[in-house]
Amino acid sequence: TGSLFLVPTPIGNLNDMTPRAITTMQEVDLIAAEDTRNTQKLLNYFEIDTRQISFHEHNTMQRIPQLIEMLQEGKNIAQVSDAGMPSISDPGHELVKACIENEIPVVPLPGPNAALSALIASGLTPQPFYFYGFLPRKSTERKKEIEKLGELQATFILYESPHRLKKTIKDMLEVLGDRKVTLGRELTKQYEEFLRGTLSEAMEYAENDEVRGEFVVVVEGKNQADNLQTSQEFDEGNIVSEVQ
Ligand code: SAM
Repeated sequence: TGSLFLVPTPIGNLNDMTPRAITTMQEVDLIAAEDTRNTQKLLNYFEIDTRQISFHEHNTMQRIPQLIEMLQEGKNIAQVSDAGMPSISDPGHELVKACIENEIPVVPLPGPNAALSALIASGLTPQPFYFYGFLPRKSTERKKEIEKLGELQATFILYESPHRLKKTIKDMLEVLGDRKVTLGRELTKQYEEFLRGTLSEAMEYAENDEVRGEFVVVVEGKNQADNLQTSQEFDEGNIVSEVQ
């Protein structure tokens, strides 16, 4: 049988495409892409002429049997999403499960990912951490999820679109109080920036109508001792001595 290669693609900076990702996409028989037009730009840039097929949330169930059949015939397939790691708030997981059920080898390539990039530069405790992805859109469900996240003794990571950033920060401030937060904006791109502070400071930032770009939101966990120590500079009143 063939193998399924899970190939991460750049989240902004094309130079983050690894040599192995390039050769893999060149050597496979087929690329299953979330958006073939988007991926075609990447293929053109790296002069890769592999054939593509669409594989996204709306055709997953119809595509999987077709892809499994090709893999069983010995074809190698690379699966990619629009940016970053496949399966991480992106299509991929159902195909991976189907390959495992059919004893088809699944080969993950390491590479660009927005969540981990934001986490390691956030200044918040990197372990333990919890990756959530996108919160539900409905307000009651969002708040319920935020409450649950708020109980974790782990730094947690959210993805958010620029137009919902304000709402997310506001809901978190209401439910969690004024915790520390880092916003990672436009990672790997020309205007990459990190906003490190508290949820109320992030609220001031998010209230600006000009908020644009892509964001990762990294929030401190409940009672995280390491964070409490470093937050002295932000809040003289916190109970650092009781934690140590
Ligand atoms: N699969 C991707 C990954 O591995 O990071 C995530 C895809 S998800 C559909 C898109 C979300 O990821 C955006 O809404 C944003 O929250 C985050 N994201 C992607 N690229 C980013 C970047 N360059 N800077 C900041 N956040 C980014």
